[in-house]
Amino acid sequence: MTTDLTDAARSDRYANAGGLSCPVCESFGCFEGDFDADLGGKGDMPQRCGDCKATWTEQWTLTGITDVKEYLYNWADRHRI
Ligand SMILES: [Zn+2]
Repeated sequence: MTTDLTDAARSDRYANAGGLSCPVCESFGCFEGDFDADLGGKGDMPQRCGDCKATWTEQWTLTGITDVKEYLYNWADRHRI
């Protein structure tokens, strides 16, 4: 099934649905590609639909972090070696 939506409309619909289904055939058989993040907190993740073989690129932006747990490193022991 192919839709006649614009790229912007497809993008909005895809993002609003949490990226769970193909923007072309709306199948849930999507495969994840390699995440290519740069140092600016953004990255592109190529995706491919396992059903209709459509490809697209998810655009990721780092929005923050949570659940930080500090590792208690013992600097005195390290320098004694
Ligand atoms: Zn598809």
